[in-house]
Amino acid sequence: RASVGPKYLAGLNPEQREAVETLDGPVLVLAGAGTGKTRVLTTRIAHILSQGRARPAEILSVTFTNKAAREMKHRLGQMLGHAVEGMPWLGTFHSIGGRILRVHAELAQLKSNFTVLDVDDQVRLLKQLLQADNIDEKRWPARMLAGLIDGWKNRGLMPSQVPSGEAAMFANGKGGKLYASYQERLKILNAADFGDLLLENIRIFREHPDILRQYQQRFKFILVDEYQDTNVAQYLWLRLLSQAPSSLASPRLRGEADARSAAGEGDSPSTARVETPPHPDPLPASGEREKTKNICCVGDDDQSIYGWRGAEVDNILRFEHDFPGAKVIRLERNYRSTGHILAAASHLIAHNEGRLGKTLRTEDQDGEKVTVTGSWDSEEEARGIGEEIEQLQRQGDKLNEIAILVRASYQMREFEDRFVTLGLPYRVIGGPRFYERAEIRDALAYLRVINSPADDLAFERIVNTPKRGLGDATVQMLHDHARKRRIPLFEAARAVVETDELKPKARGSLRDLIAQFDRWRAQREVTAHTDLAQIVLDESGYTEMWQKDRSADAAGRLENLKELVRSMEEFENLQGFLEHISLVMDREGGAEDDAVSLMTLHSAKGLEFDNVFLPGWEEGLFPSQRTLDEQGRAGLEEERRLGHVGLTRARRRAKIYFATNRRIHGTWSTTIPSRFLDELPAANVEITESKGGSGWGGSGGYGASRFDDMEAFGSSYSTPGWQRAQANRNRGGGRTGGFEEDAARFSSSSSSGPDFGSFSARR
Ligand code: ATP
Ligand code: MG
Repeated sequence: RASVGPKYLAGLNPEQREAVETLDGPVLVLAGAGTGKTRVLTTRIAHILSQGRARPAEILSVTFTNKAAREMKHRLGQMLGHAVEGMPWLGTFHSIGGRILRVHAELAQLKSNFTVLDVDDQVRLLKQLLQADNIDEKRWPARMLAGLIDGWKNRGLMPSQVPSGEAAMFANGKGGKLYASYQERLKILNAADFGDLLLENIRIFREHPDILRQYQQRFKFILVDEYQDTNVAQYLWLRLLSQAPSSLASPRLRGEADARSAAGEGDSPSTARVETPPHPDPLPASGEREKTKNICCVGDDDQSIYGWRGAEVDNILRFEHDFPGAKVIRLERNYRSTGHILAAASHLIAHNEGRLGKTLRTEDQDGEKVTVTGSWDSEEEARGIGEEIEQLQRQGDKLNEIAILVRASYQMREFEDRFVTLGLPYRVIGGPRFYERAEIRDALAYLRVINSPADDLAFERIVNTPKRGLGDATVQMLHDHARKRRIPLFEAARAVVETDELKPKARGSLRDLIAQFDRWRAQREVTAHTDLAQIVLDESGYTEMWQKDRSADAAGRLENLKELVRSMEEFENLQGFLEHISLVMDREGGAEDDAVSLMTLHSAKGLEFDNVFLPGWEEGLFPSQRTLDEQGRAGLEEERRLGHVGLTRARRRAKIYFATNRRIHGTWSTTIPSRFLDELPAANVEITESKGGSGWGGSGGYGASRFDDMEAFGSSYSTPGWQRAQANRNRGGGRTGGFEEDAARFSSSSSSGPDFGSFSARR
């Protein structure tokens, strides 16, 4: 059968082939990881093109990342034997939405060359609005508002549609109004934020049925990867585009009715539907519906990991209802992973209750068991993984086929440092490298000014961060002074505060800052550089700035700052540390052809590697304590899906790690192995010894195969602080901290870490 038909169909199994060849009507491929969903989508495009069913420009294909789009295009070229010209509609929701918006910009009161704002711009703009409205930014931070607005946009809500209860969540009910003025400001600035790229599309489609019809006619085929992680706005956008062109002038849209009644504007009985929960539906009631077009969505409910960002797994579960007559195809053969890896991943996810459930089988060999390795601490973990990677390299494995997937981005720092030391090329996917993050650059800027008062770039970066009334005008004046006298900004500042050129408030504030730096420089002589860093961050108000910030990423930034201070321990002094940083920063990011990939579990979606390293499987880190606290059981299930995604990225080897001691929020805590380790099937898992250890940690006690035993074993670690100091010495990690100091620091916080109490409940 496989020999019949074009070459690109050969090798597909019957179900995959059915998904490729069913070109008419809606199709949902609901299948587990590695079963070829993405491959089906790519092959489907090849099939549509080679059958002459549509031209490239008539196919709309949505991927989750830009990288995935490039990859798909590449594969398509391989299948067809020639590069595909003109596939402008292959990309992420945002990139395609942005493209459409540029064409119709004037309908959104924009020009076609509008700028797309990033989060920082967005926050700056919101701050201005808060100031203009005399809203106390300390109580109502701009970042919090940015988060709310994003959330509304993800749900397809225009300012007038924000439910009043939610608008009340910010500045005593001003949320909705601020959202409206923010939108107005964006137009004046000829700018759009990410959410607008889709939201404005939706509005234009609704208000201009002729334009909608034009796109409905154009897109003969629609394909969507990772459908389980679409949010409501993306769903609405797809629903609008996926209807066969309709001649209805302006159908009454149910979604609008929902939103209006939610906003308290419902005026007719028909809008007061009491369905719970109302799922927005942009279309006329099913009776009046036109035929659904050729839409093919693929996804896996077990890989839905963006709930926290507004994704609705419900979208995939409702597919048959939303697209009547849909053909649902299930794929059960996994082509990616070996038997042991697949068994471990399936077993883990089986602990979730809210799932459809599915069978996955592989015809591949069992391969190597999934390994679980305990280390003394995160440093030993990084060292061990570094060694294993070097060993794989000696064995002939390509670095490109190696990935380290972490739960929290601060975990990356230790690996980055290790790789720089080893001279091992690496790239960070889906985010800036650790030392390039904004909060890290800010903190480093403070340290650089202490180290070298002439470092103007650093001084300028922090002179008004956090805000201390030294705005652009002040900085401009300092620049003028500095240029005239050919002195650094810092010296110029020293001179300027002696004059009355500045307004009293700015002058006082600048004088304070100079005094602070003088004090820190003096302290440098007598204080350990790590302590100094902490003092600087605290006294400058920088830590506080993020503590007061209620946005979603503030906690992560604080964690990164703690991690920064901790990373300094490995250097003798501030000078040595800053030198190391300049080396790390100097490396060309991602330029190497062959490099280890470092990324979060979230960014690993859809990818695959021969070797996957999964560090940090400890309670509190993974599953994340914050997710558990905030979302309870649902959060735990999302974390478990994340573990499932991690394991199923591996083709040949999956290696899990946990450390017995880790700094969480800056203090050493004795940690407990993740509950997910207990949920792995013993038959597919092997417990191994850390390669990065000093020889005494990690052995012996791990002989027991139940991870429950490890908990007991783990806690026995916490007593001898001196052993840890000993281990540090043996490892020759370049630490300078004294024996006693190390022991003291460790024992003072070992068993009283902030998260410890909540763990003990499990025992
Ligand atoms: P995920 O859920 O992780 O996104 P997926 O279902 O999209 O996974 P793919 O990435 O499409 O799976 O496929 C996984 C691997 O299996 C790829 O390397 C792909 O080339 C291979 N594969 C898929 N189908 C077949 C097949 N019929 N024969 C051989 N290899 C296949
Ligand atoms: Mg895929």
